[in-house]
Amino acid sequence: MARRKIVAGNWKMNQTPSQAVKLVEMLKPLVASDEVDVVFCVPAIDIISVVEACKGSNIKVGAENMYFEESGAYTGEISPAMLTDAGVEYVVLGHSERREYFAETDLTVNKKMHKAFEHGITPIMCCGETLEQREQGVTMDFIRQQVKVGFLGITAEQAQKAVIAYEPIWAIGTGKTATTEQAEEVCAGIRQCIREMYDDATAEAIRIQYGGSVNGGNAAELFAQADIDGGLVGGASLKEEFGKIVNYR
Ligand code: PGA
Repeated sequence: MARRKIVAGNWKMNQTPSQAVKLVEMLKPLVASDEVDVVFCVPAIDIISVVEACKGSNIKVGAENMYFEESGAYTGEISPAMLTDAGVEYVVLGHSERREYFAETDLTVNKKMHKAFEHGITPIMCCGETLEQREQGVTMDFIRQQVKVGFLGITAEQAQKAVIAYEPIWAIGTGKTATTEQAEEVCAGIRQCIREMYDDATAEAIRIQYGGSVNGGNAAELFAQADIDGGLVGGASLKEEFGKIVNYR
């Protein structure tokens, strides 16, 4: 069975709540689609107003991070129940910016993966190599490690619902996209890793996105690859161009 494409915007630390509503109103008609799942992953403070603004549309709302405890003395953190109660259905976990600036590790990502599934939130788990790792030829070893630890203890049934975003760090926000061949090679490698960890059915069901300078011009070719099931989009998700990416055909 063909996998349904999923295109997610990652707003990062952009848009105040009032700006967020205006952006949703602008994008809503442009991202309408029967064929593609569309997710807006937005800053925590924007979630409530974005959920409200997206009502009646095909847009699902995601968070950009989440904590792995239920509640308690964790000043500044957001719990999974807070997210679901606010209407969140997806969460980005282990984005390279969180790994780099906020000490996120494969193990904390794994704890968050478990919590997300426990609460019925679909994780979009990010992985990806640095330029140095690519040049040293260890890209696939590194990514397999990220995927294996990220999915430790996750059942096949859960894994089938997960989304993995392959984002080469050197391609994020740089305007430097991986070539279609490079992106497909790694996404196919990730699917193979899932096949080895689980089975064929899980490998065929899990959705793998490419991320890193996806834009209106390169989305069609990237998303046409056998193992690329859509994209995680940063910069271009804040512009009209996002409509073109969603409706890439
Ligand atoms: P970019 O960001 O599209 O701006 O490169 C992608 C991401 O970080 O998810």
